Amino acid sequence: MPLTLSAAEKLSADLTSFVRSLYDTEEFIPLHIPLLGVKEAKAVAGAIESGMISTVGPQVGEFEEKLKELTGAGYVVASVNGTAALHLALITADVKPGDEVITQALTFVATANAISYCGAEPVFLDVDRGTMSLCPDAVAAFLDENAERSDNGAVINKRSGRRIAACLPMHTNGHPGDMLRLAEVCAKWDLPLIEDAAEALGSFRDGKHAGRVGRVATLSFNGNKIISTGQGGAVITDDAELAGRIRHIAAVAKEQHPWRFQHDQIGYNYRLPALNAALGIAQLERLPAFLESKRILAQEYTKWFEAQGLEPVREPEGAKSNFWFNAFFTEGAKMRDAVLEATNKAGVMTRPFWDPMNTLRQYQHCHCDELTNTKWLFDRLINVPSTPRVPK
Ligand SMILES: *Cc1c(COP(=O)(O)O)cnc(C)c1O
Repeated sequence: MPLTLSAAEKLSADLTSFVRSLYDTEEFIPLHIPLLGVKEAKAVAGAIESGMISTVGPQVGEFEEKLKELTGAGYVVASVNGTAALHLALITADVKPGDEVITQALTFVATANAISYCGAEPVFLDVDRGTMSLCPDAVAAFLDENAERSDNGAVINKRSGRRIAACLPMHTNGHPGDMLRLAEVCAKWDLPLIEDAAEALGSFRDGKHAGRVGRVATLSFNGNKIISTGQGGAVITDDAELAGRIRHIAAVAKEQHPWRFQHDQIGYNYRLPALNAALGIAQLERLPAFLESKRILAQEYTKWFEAQGLEPVREPEGAKSNFWFNAFFTEGAKMRDAVLEATNKAGVMTRPFWDPMNTLRQYQHCHCDELTNTKWLFDRLINVPSTPRVPK
């Protein structure tokens, strides 16, 4: 070790040893891994023994019931992954080829891709600096400047001539965004509000589970989410008719009949298999322990970041976040990259935010606003290991 360390070297070394102390290991520390133990093994073995491993197994319905209890949603449709859930939510919100859908530039690519699957174009607006989720003021400003009503009541973007079909915010890193304000903005224009709550299972704001303000929301149970079914997702809603349509097209739009194969529209093979649902039931039983462990971890990180003079990402006011990923801000992109480089080299996994969607080749042509907060956050944020500290 050289006698004088650069600020980046010092921070990286200190962060590495702090994370090692949190997890009490000298081995590689991943960002977030699924905790799969005896319970999960038994659940999957049970599904195998019953022979019901495909989408018709009873575990799918049981998993959906448990998600209803947790989220308070009237209806849950489990899907093969969170991206498929988004696709189902957008199709059933009547998002069509040539439409535009408002979303945030700061998100995982699945949010934008699901819009593209409908043949629609994302409009990338800025996030709020505090919640890191879609900024209600940015949406209001965009609509006030660009939107007008056509004779048939559709909301049209005057500049592009396209219909604005929906608004799709995402709860970044599991921290619930300000959906009540966003819902007011959307209501003014009668825009369906669809929440990408993929990262926010177990997060609450204003007494509601994330995803419970919009007409419909989606969840993900991918390998690095707070609970995992391997791959999996769900659509949640209070709208019975909508839930019925989602359930129908997610199962190849097959009509109910004792033996005939009749399909009344183009459907998708998007239902969650029972094997994965079995895993989900076992994981949901452990969610309270995961949440509690992650909250304590977040407190320890926050205390340490503050002691270093670093700004941690905090839970929004009025929210109880699942703290899916803990994160802090560096002074800028150079520092961010130096710390990412050194910590990953030292076997402690850290990650920046996703490259903002408007910078990706396939989305560069899409409309976006100034994205001031998006750029600020992207340049500075580092995600740190956040797996719950509970036994497998
Ligand atoms: C994980 C995630 C999804 C869905 O991902 P799947 O891997 O398809 O389950 C969607 N949006 C965001 C923001 C995510 O983090």
